[in-house]
Amino acid sequence: MVPRCIKVSTRGILSISWNDGHEGEITLNTLRTKCPCAECRGETILWRKYTPLPQSDMPGKYDVLRMEPVGNYGIQFYWADGHSAGIYTWNMLRELCECPLCKSK
Ligand SMILES: [Zn+2]
Ligand SMILES: [Zn+2]
Repeated sequence: MVPRCIKVSTRGILSISWNDGHEGEITLNTLRTKCPCAECRGETILWRKYTPLPQSDMPGKYDVLRMEPVGNYGIQFYWADGHSAGIYTWNMLRELCECPLCKSK
């Protein structure tokens, strides 16, 4: 399952047209909150569990400036506050889907 088209709408929603015909949507807020990078998720460094500091919401935190495909398995978002470390796989985007159909499940 791969997206045919990904675009950000003016309502702050990422619209994804999947190659199986599914029309998905995810709010940018959700997308950013679920950022899979080590910095946002926390990381185990040696024996110490590193917990991310509570991040205050910088201006632009939930705005996407641009996106870049990563290989053929995912996409990287460049957020307006300068963050870009997270790589979202297609599977992940599909699981995060917030369209009415997926939400009702
Ligand atoms: Zn959906
Ligand atoms: Zn992150």
